[in-house]
Amino acid sequence: MTSSNPFPTATHRIVQGTIVDLAGVIRAKNVPADRLDVFARNGVGAPKVWVVFNADNNFAENETFNVTGDLRLRLDASQVRPLDEHILWGPTNLVEQNGDPSEYDARGVLRNVVDKAAELGYTARFGHEFEFLLLPEETASERNPDIFATPWPGYGAVPFIGQEEFFSDLIDAAGAAGITLEQLHTEWGPYQYEVSIAPEDPVRAADNVVLLKLLLKRVAARHGLTAVLSPKPFVDQTGNGGHVHLSLNRVDGNSPILSGGDLRYGLSEDGAHAIAGLHRHLAELTALLAGSPVSLLRLRPDTWSGAAIGWGLENRETAIRYIAATLGNPHGANIEIKACDLSANPYVEIAGLLAGALDGIRNRLPLAEPTEGIPSEYDEEERSERGLSLFPATFDDVTKAFEDSAVLREFLGDGLVDAITAIRNLNSETYKDTPAEELVYLFRNIW
Ligand code: GLU
Ligand code: MG
Repeated sequence: MTSSNPFPTATHRIVQGTIVDLAGVIRAKNVPADRLDVFARNGVGAPKVWVVFNADNNFAENETFNVTGDLRLRLDASQVRPLDEHILWGPTNLVEQNGDPSEYDARGVLRNVVDKAAELGYTARFGHEFEFLLLPEETASERNPDIFATPWPGYGAVPFIGQEEFFSDLIDAAGAAGITLEQLHTEWGPYQYEVSIAPEDPVRAADNVVLLKLLLKRVAARHGLTAVLSPKPFVDQTGNGGHVHLSLNRVDGNSPILSGGDLRYGLSEDGAHAIAGLHRHLAELTALLAGSPVSLLRLRPDTWSGAAIGWGLENRETAIRYIAATLGNPHGANIEIKACDLSANPYVEIAGLLAGALDGIRNRLPLAEPTEGIPSEYDEEERSERGLSLFPATFDDVTKAFEDSAVLREFLGDGLVDAITAIRNLNSETYKDTPAEELVYLFRNIW
């Protein structure tokens, strides 16, 4: 254990090390707390086929990934934090048996992309919003619960009543684990709530997403509730977003690129190119941001999910919502990617977003006109000036855009892109004829 980390304390009996698979599911291995050092040094076994683990528990097996072969999950002891007073959590890295990094390790790939950003002269910070349903345990697995029939005042003060203990416990658990919750509120949809976390450097931000998901589920369970994070838990109800906020600074002088410039809204040239890069690559990025079999069901107009590929100042209907530097915005100017949801693997999600922004900057991609109104109300010419389009219509369209992405292959590596493609193709085969009602039910409690 590193001396800077106080864990385990005498009460901690178990260490849980997690890996997020490429379908976004958090998988874990646990050891008794006194074996923490072994977990960190030697790692514990993870079948190689886990690389192509699908969210429905099947594997996209092929010649590379099948019943043979083993990798290791190695605990990052410097990041061990408490889930409660008995069990500790830590992120793991996927390594080969000899300890070499695996090309399929999403956390390692993110670290490589962060290094690449630094070489190009930039650092980045990421923050996440979590929308979720808070349902009585038995309701969470019912096909068509009748509780949704009762009217619900969106963003209302009244539906917060009765949940104060849950949120107080969540603040405490997150605080003990080193996560600052910034906001807690009632959301638009019935039984829907939201919490958000402060921006951090990319790897820590992704680790925090994993940890906060686990804390949300644990604290909810202690209150007889289930926190449902699926992007679309019920066909007829509002979806859950997992909006991601990002900002970039120049290494040189540590100055922000999204504010303090001479362009529109205070953007610098680098800032404009970064938005242009994200805009250009959003279709292929969809596989990493909103890639689950139910994700496209959420990306519908008029739901504030950012269902149009485009950008605008504070626009909630475009996938890229630029937020300028104002007093009301203590973390400074940033870009909110609204299309993101919580089925994403946060490591590859952040790596992909960083890749898109960096590609825009290094190629000086031109920024389209901003979208100032409702995307569907523009005519064709106005849409083209704004680069406005819809997300790929089908799951297979997303796969095609992703598989063909030279930028994602360059930044993430062919191994990771091919593994994600294999998982997507398995999903496509398995669920091509499954009605939406059944799909949302099957995937409701997976992430
Ligand atoms: N629930 C919406 C979504 O699916 C977002 C609502 C909001 O703007 O917070 O992303
Ligand atoms: Mg929200």
